[in-house]
Amino acid sequence: MSTPWHILGAGSLGTLWATRLARAGVPVRLILRNDARLASYRAGQGLTLVEHGVEHTYAVIGETPESPEPIHRLLVACKAYDAQSAIAQLQHRLAPDAELILLQNGLGSQDAVAAQVPSARCIYASSTEGAFRDGDWRVVFAGHGYTWLGDAGHPTPVLWLDDLQAAGIPHEWATDILTRLWRKLALNCAINPLTVLYQCRNGGLQAHQCEVATLCAELAELLEYCGQPAAAEDLHAEVERVIQATAANYSSMYQDVANARRTEISYLLGYACQAAARHQLVLPHLQQLQARLVEHLLARGLASD
Ligand code: NAP
Repeated sequence: MSTPWHILGAGSLGTLWATRLARAGVPVRLILRNDARLASYRAGQGLTLVEHGVEHTYAVIGETPESPEPIHRLLVACKAYDAQSAIAQLQHRLAPDAELILLQNGLGSQDAVAAQVPSARCIYASSTEGAFRDGDWRVVFAGHGYTWLGDAGHPTPVLWLDDLQAAGIPHEWATDILTRLWRKLALNCAINPLTVLYQCRNGGLQAHQCEVATLCAELAELLEYCGQPAAAEDLHAEVERVIQATAANYSSMYQDVANARRTEISYLLGYACQAAARHQLVLPHLQQLQARLVEHLLARGLASD
């Protein structure tokens, strides 16, 4: 039998991966927070994937971090701010050859996890797939996309890409995964905070073109300083393209704030501002954007980190 995939976090992306792997007959174990969540999960039929309006339920085996079996392959599907503490709970179960796949958005959490589990191989992922939960143990596959996977330290691809192939998860091994993550972070910094501050859909930023252009110039400068010139290339043009192509959408940060959920700001704009400070780079518009966003979050009683 092939190596089981342990999936940490039964949220949107965790469920999206678990159901597709299970559908392909790949062994999957879902790791839930605690006994209460496990009991709730076991009271149902399993995990449900809703795709093109059609739903299928898969009887994926659930467990808690205290289960005894060693973990060889762990898909970390928590939010960036939860990743380290969630892994700490099951660190004792990681086999010496363990591989972790980190799905977190932004930057910062992946390096923190890699430092936390130095003997494991950490694969960083960047995904354009979109999913949301419409109930406990259910996920709606809202946006088909692509997932790039890579290991900043070792260019050699992992051996389990055929599991993803079998599961119909579109993917590619990326030797430039850090460049991809930086590029996505820059796109996010140029769009998401402004949609929160102006309380608009992505397309609403067409009324703030100068501000977007100024932010892109500062972000491109930051990327160059951080040794990521490829991520800086034509950034402004791509940001404009994304704003146009996703004009009707609300950004993920907008949705988090609208639903009074904690944002991943520390791993996005916060990470960019910290990197600028490390390089003693003065980027006034980016720094002002962070101050405005923090003020906006605090005024709504939301965490500012
Ligand atoms: P999500 O729906 O909030 O799911 C996160 C899950 O992690 C929740 O089910 C939560 O459990 C679980 N969790 C947190 N701490 C845990 C712990 N200690 N033990 C076990 N489970 C724990 O988040 P998501 O939307 O899937 O996003 C995950 C990451 O992927 C984020 O960094 C996000 O930015 C990124 N991403 C998401 C999408 C998307 O479309 N959703 C697309 C691209 C990238 P509870 O249910 O018990 O709270």
